[in-house]
Amino acid sequence: MREIGHFIGGKHVPGTSGRYADVYQPMTGEVIAHVALASTDELNAAVANAKAAQPAWAATNPQRRARVLMKFLELVQRDYDKLADLLAREHGKTVPDARGDIQRGLEVVEFAVGIPHLMKGDYSDGAGPGIDIYSMRQALGVVAGITPFNFPAMIPMWKFGPAIACGNAFILKPSERDPGVPMMLAELMLEAGLPPGILNVVNGDKESVDGILDHPDIQAIGFVGSTAIAQYIYARGAANGKRVQGFGGAKNHMIIMPDADMDQAVDALIGAGYGSAGERCMAISVAVPVGEDAAERLLEKLVPRVENLKIGPSTDGAADFGPLVTREAVDRVKNYVDIGLQEGAKLLVDGRGFKMQGYENGFYMGGCLFDHVTADMRIYKEEIFGPVLSVVRAPDYKEALRLPTEHEYGNGVAIFTRDGDAARDFASKVNVGMVGINVPIPVPLAYHTFGGWKRSGFGDLNQHGPDGVRFYTKTKTVTSRWPSGIKDGADFVIPTMG
Ligand code: NAD
Repeated sequence: MREIGHFIGGKHVPGTSGRYADVYQPMTGEVIAHVALASTDELNAAVANAKAAQPAWAATNPQRRARVLMKFLELVQRDYDKLADLLAREHGKTVPDARGDIQRGLEVVEFAVGIPHLMKGDYSDGAGPGIDIYSMRQALGVVAGITPFNFPAMIPMWKFGPAIACGNAFILKPSERDPGVPMMLAELMLEAGLPPGILNVVNGDKESVDGILDHPDIQAIGFVGSTAIAQYIYARGAANGKRVQGFGGAKNHMIIMPDADMDQAVDALIGAGYGSAGERCMAISVAVPVGEDAAERLLEKLVPRVENLKIGPSTDGAADFGPLVTREAVDRVKNYVDIGLQEGAKLLVDGRGFKMQGYENGFYMGGCLFDHVTADMRIYKEEIFGPVLSVVRAPDYKEALRLPTEHEYGNGVAIFTRDGDAARDFASKVNVGMVGINVPIPVPLAYHTFGGWKRSGFGDLNQHGPDGVRFYTKTKTVTSRWPSGIKDGADFVIPTMG
């Protein structure tokens, strides 16, 4: 059995807490590794290591730091197949989807290679007589990332790429469900030339997370996961004086206007609703056709597509999606389907009974489709995080705009229409952080920022793009005066430049 410990100070170190978690291979249901769960002492040792290494890294010129990331990009290309295979085996998503998970992370590392440019400050020449004002961005010190199971490559890279480029040392606490890929990424960073201690992976559960939240030497925490934990991280981290961003769950709507191209809309819905078994924070989980006619036309095309979804093991590149992450996840999602039925929604496609031949112990379920879901139902209000799509019929555009606007989550939303005026009005008014116009999963590219609103995101700054650099740096502003004014003597009135 593979034992996964921690990666601290540039070395694999075994866990010493005596606590372990099973890492499953969802496609077969087997346990394929044991991962150590760190104690507070182990976390503290990693932080001490990071703290000792960080000043020299921050003092390394930014171009040299960027070159380490460039080399890392090259090494990931070398090991892409291995990484994607391990990711698919530990997570359950298909290998092609695992490759996408890695790619969307690499794009943020590519962006972070521009760090010498991104960290430049401002300069005001002659802000007063003989006075110049300039600002600089400096690393925070030791910072941390706590990441979810559903993107075990992308989200760690979204965090450690910008943070390390900016000169910080990083403690990554990945999901205990699929820790293999984060460990490999840390090894590749070391191989790329990162000094030991700058990227540490501490595997664990609540104990190590609480250790991060309370550690006086950790300056900032980037979290991604479910909303209840995001809010907990935000509150406890901020109470300890840290900078915190906490991204949480989602309920992403796709509005289908009566003039939309239905074939395009159905293709988009199938991919965005069921890809990765619905285990994406930007998955579409609510389809909102506008008007009865649009609803009928949509469902006529959608139902057979959901019935014919191809589910397969993660290694089957032709499958639409693979298993869910754990047996508990399957039970939770099926339970939501039961709840939907009790609440009176109409189950048009029932994937609860799906069995994968030859993989009977895997964590599979088929795609489910509900019609006549209403805003008061739990299956509408809560995040299901599985291959279940709910259709909420809206009588008009006003109601279609109101639904995502008033939902407690505000991660992503999409509108499908041929009408530029409706799309523009929707993008301007909807109370959601990321909007797609004829794009079902509007995950912004690396040089823009990613972040949901309302209970999908706690904190002030988004992830990656310019906000990622702002989050992992602090601004120092210098007001300088040369050379003679100082001889004028003391001045007890607050300086003004007028
Ligand atoms: P999760 O909240 O269970 O776990 C996330 C992290 O928190 C893990 O590292 C885990 O070990 C840790 N954790 C879990 N319970 C904890 C506790 N009680 N105390 C302290 N730490 C704890 O989330 P998950 O199941 O791994 O991921 C799925 C969730 O993440 C979904 O809700 C999904 O929408 C969300 N997500 C959001 C985004 C986004 O950008 N908004 C992106 C991806 C996933």
